Amino acid sequence: MERTLSIVKPDGTEKNVIGEVLGRFEKNGINVIALKMVKLTKEDAEGFYAVHRERPFFGSLTDFMSRGPIVVMALEGENAIAKVREIMGATNPEEAAEGTIRKDFASNIEENTVHGSDSPESAEYEINYFFNALELNGAS
Ligand code: ATP
Ligand code: MG
Repeated sequence: MERTLSIVKPDGTEKNVIGEVLGRFEKNGINVIALKMVKLTKEDAEGFYAVHRERPFFGSLTDFMSRGPIVVMALEGENAIAKVREIMGATNPEEAAEGTIRKDFASNIEENTVHGSDSPESAEYEINYFFNALELNGAS
């Protein structure tokens, strides 16, 4: 069993596809173990995406991630990290496979509807960024 963090980004909550995103994970055997809606400050978004701080799109990305509510969820399942990223599709929706979340809902490479952790280390950092032990222990 593996854990990962996913986010319905501000464009996803604006597009009213929270349930759609969640449903695609659930249908693929991924369990939700913690879930909440929050609105990040610019500083919160900078902390979350700290690994990208040198990238040219960092300012724009953190403006976007703090412009409206997001839904953060800790997920669990077999190969959850890779499976969630497969269900999400490529970062750029123009390159995303048919039937993926980003192919179906993303507007562009930045406003791409959904986030998923990319490694066990980032999953642990990201889950702990949003959820405390009390919230996570409800699952097991
Ligand atoms: P995420 O980490 O959100 O799951 P990802 O792992 O597919 O997405 P990353 O390379 O980690 O992609 O980039 C993080 C996020 O930064 C992307 O999801 C997207 O919102 C934004 N982003 C990535 N590349 C660009 C770009 N060239 N221009 C603008 N925004 C970008
Ligand atoms: Mg990433």
